[in-house]
Amino acid sequence: MSPITVTIENIFKDHLTLIQVVLYAGVISILWFAEVFSSLNPWKDKLRHSGLNFLFIFTALPIQLSLTLMVIVISEWAFTNHWGILFLLPYSSSIWVKYVAGFFLLDFFEYVYHVTMHKVKSLWKFHLVHHTDTQLDVSTTVREHPGETFIRVCFLGLWVFLSGASIGLLVLRQTVQTFSNIIAHTHFRLPSKTDKILGLLLITPNLHQVHHHDKMPYTDCNYGDVLSIWDRLFGTYKEMEAADINFGLDVFDNKHASHFSYLLQSPFPKKNSTTG
Ligand SMILES: [Zn+2]
Ligand SMILES: [Zn+2]
Repeated sequence: MSPITVTIENIFKDHLTLIQVVLYAGVISILWFAEVFSSLNPWKDKLRHSGLNFLFIFTALPIQLSLTLMVIVISEWAFTNHWGILFLLPYSSSIWVKYVAGFFLLDFFEYVYHVTMHKVKSLWKFHLVHHTDTQLDVSTTVREHPGETFIRVCFLGLWVFLSGASIGLLVLRQTVQTFSNIIAHTHFRLPSKTDKILGLLLITPNLHQVHHHDKMPYTDCNYGDVLSIWDRLFGTYKEMEAADINFGLDVFDNKHASHFSYLLQSPFPKKNSTTG
């Protein structure tokens, strides 16, 4: 490739991670302040709560940055060798197959990933940390154990290998996913009618809040990442009134929910006495 060949795809490829970080930081900051100004709770409480969640950015970032390079290498290899499910589909070179079918396929894989994190006990111990937040807000988006960050990006590498997703598709997917995940964790709720319409296709804040309810079977519902259609298809779709939702996990002692070091150690057997 000529060094003077500059395309949008190349720019995104070279700065994929940086763009994601900037996008993440920008959208989270805007919505965080929107939550502050729309809430009656003291902003100092929110700052304390968000501060703990934002600490997880520092543990996630080095893992995310280094492993994203691996995902890019897999994508380039698959693209060069015409490898993956997307290349097996009819009209595989059409933009609809490349981007639209690819988007749906990757979203289905993310649904499988989320179900796997809940159903496999050894993986649930890492994902559980995300669910221990008792005050769901936009900062909960980044509350992810570094072990889960590692597992999540490794799974993404597997999904890219299986699908043959191009860098362009990954950029599109990650951008939409970033907005969707952040908005889904805000404390805002959509009016019922709007939620019903958008919820036919998308995971709305109302739907993701049900996923953060502290009791089964609600914790094991609405696994969707961007799209809600997989939950509808596989019978894991649930709705719940805001007044009935209690954030957190009833199998976790809430007194540890704001202790960063405890949360980091919680998946490991020696220090873990209250989760399972
Ligand atoms: Zn979950
Ligand atoms: Zn969540």
